[in-house]
Amino acid sequence: MTDRYAVIGNPIEQSKSPLIHTAFAQVTGQDIEYTKVLGPLGGFAQAVDAFRAAGGRGMNVTAPFKLDAFAYATDLAPSAQMAGAVNAMKFEGDPVYAENFDGVGLVRDVVHNLGCALRGRRVLVLGAGGATRGALLPMLAEQPAELVIANRTVAKAEELAALGRQHQSGQVPLQGLGYAQLLGRPFDVVFNATSASLTAELPPLPDSVYAAGALAYDLTYGKGLTPFLQHAQRAGVQRLHDGVGMLAEQAAEAFAWWRGVRPDTRAVIAQLTVPLV
Ligand code: NDP
Repeated sequence: MTDRYAVIGNPIEQSKSPLIHTAFAQVTGQDIEYTKVLGPLGGFAQAVDAFRAAGGRGMNVTAPFKLDAFAYATDLAPSAQMAGAVNAMKFEGDPVYAENFDGVGLVRDVVHNLGCALRGRRVLVLGAGGATRGALLPMLAEQPAELVIANRTVAKAEELAALGRQHQSGQVPLQGLGYAQLLGRPFDVVFNATSASLTAELPPLPDSVYAAGALAYDLTYGKGLTPFLQHAQRAGVQRLHDGVGMLAEQAAEAFAWWRGVRPDTRAVIAQLTVPLV
């Protein structure tokens, strides 16, 4: 019997998850059906209940339901606990197992696909929302030379840095700052984990933030050269990337968790890549 999976969000039309998981199923020979569910605002639990009652085996969760899924789950993996949010669920009888693969997907894309080790590098993350929170432990596990979180609302950056310090087993220096405090501090890898690119805005970044040979990575994907990537390019950065690989890698993690086989992501990344021009 074909196993059923879906992504739930609102809106949901834009989601690439069905395309990605259907491609993964084809290359791995898995018999699954993967659809989109438009979750009613305020009606997340009922929509998931209905999907489970119809035999659904697992779901990806996208905006605005990642916190609802956190509340709905019965068994939260450490990644979901740390992120305070859930992006994948697995249904096996009564328990609802929940994970958050965004952070591990991001790190895998940078380290594995882009060949940019974070170990020993000075890493800057812009933004202190859900994506940064989820990426914190996977990034710290790579043992960068330092990890700085900069945010418009400075208190949120400080809070995340304190959370990271509590949870990390290593001794990575970790700081939460405002943008003005970045002046004169160069970094080897700069991630834009703000949602500014979605509205074509640019966080107030000094040019001096990029060290020679730096890599700039915008977690937003499918928008071409965002204002953040344009700014990096003007500052002389040559290694520019968006979050399409992160999207594919978090999906591959979920697929492996559900099906026990990890698909190769290269074809999907190539298919979904919007040129950075
Ligand atoms: P949140 O809404 O949780 O956080 C948004 C963050 O962006 C906050 O820190 C906010 O600052 C900051 N911000 C918003 N607008 C601006 C601005 N104009 N200037 C400076 N800072 C700004 O979002 P998420 O963490 O969930 O997502 C962040 C980005 O990551 C989104 O673009 C999303 O699309 C992308 N993403 C990509 C994924 C992928 O697979 N590639 C997966 C998950 C997310 P403040 O706290 O001051 O309000």
